[in-house]
Amino acid sequence: MTLSLTVLGTSGMFATAAEACSGYLVEWDGFKLWLDAGAGTWQSLRSTTDYRELGGVLLTHRHPDHTTDVFQALHARYLGTHGKLSPIPLWAPQETLDALSGFDSDMDDVFELRSVSGSERLELKGASLSFVHMAHPPITLGVRIEAGDRVAAYSADSGPAADFDALAHDADLFVCEATLQAGASWEGHLNGAQVGAIAASVGARKTLLTHLPPEKDHAVTLAEARAAAPSSDIELAEQGRRYEV
Ligand SMILES: [Zn+2]
Ligand SMILES: [Zn+2]
Repeated sequence: MTLSLTVLGTSGMFATAAEACSGYLVEWDGFKLWLDAGAGTWQSLRSTTDYRELGGVLLTHRHPDHTTDVFQALHARYLGTHGKLSPIPLWAPQETLDALSGFDSDMDDVFELRSVSGSERLELKGASLSFVHMAHPPITLGVRIEAGDRVAAYSADSGPAADFDALAHDADLFVCEATLQAGASWEGHLNGAQVGAIAASVGARKTLLTHLPPEKDHAVTLAEARAAAPSSDIELAEQGRRYEV
């Protein structure tokens, strides 16, 4: 089974002129999952796939830089030229589902809203998805996707006090947030050096740095991560690029 991840956006907290917020298109065995829907990712998604082919949406937490473009999909699936489309599943923590439904009462008409929590396993079209509670102020789930013998892991937003080993041990591709740089630290996000140390400790075969600080030099983040893990394969995630896992 093939597993791929296309980066729809890499900017943390808010979008820039060139970079959308957090979002990925994950594909296996013909199934297409939109993983996080930050500002700008709807346009990135549309440049890589037909939105009618989406099999589902998975949102890691309620913060706007991970969710707000789901309303673009809502309108397109409800009001688009193809008429009203059949609902597709939208998985997220209950807190996220409640927040989105509070913003637009049509959410449960366009999506099948399905609550997920940590310690849960979701069997989906031949892949197995598991979730880990991350260290971030709202309820936030990191996701591990196992498809055949391939493993992709995504940190969502998190500080260092999460169980990264459960999330990303031996992952072929580890997509990890790196919001902070130059030694800055906070309990709810990671800096480049922390990501490097985590990537080495979990044994990830390739790590992509994402949720990068907007309007800052990302080469600094990359250098910090690589300095902390000189033998690890670490790159900056590139918007629009498809990675075979
Ligand atoms: Zn974020
Ligand atoms: Zn967040």
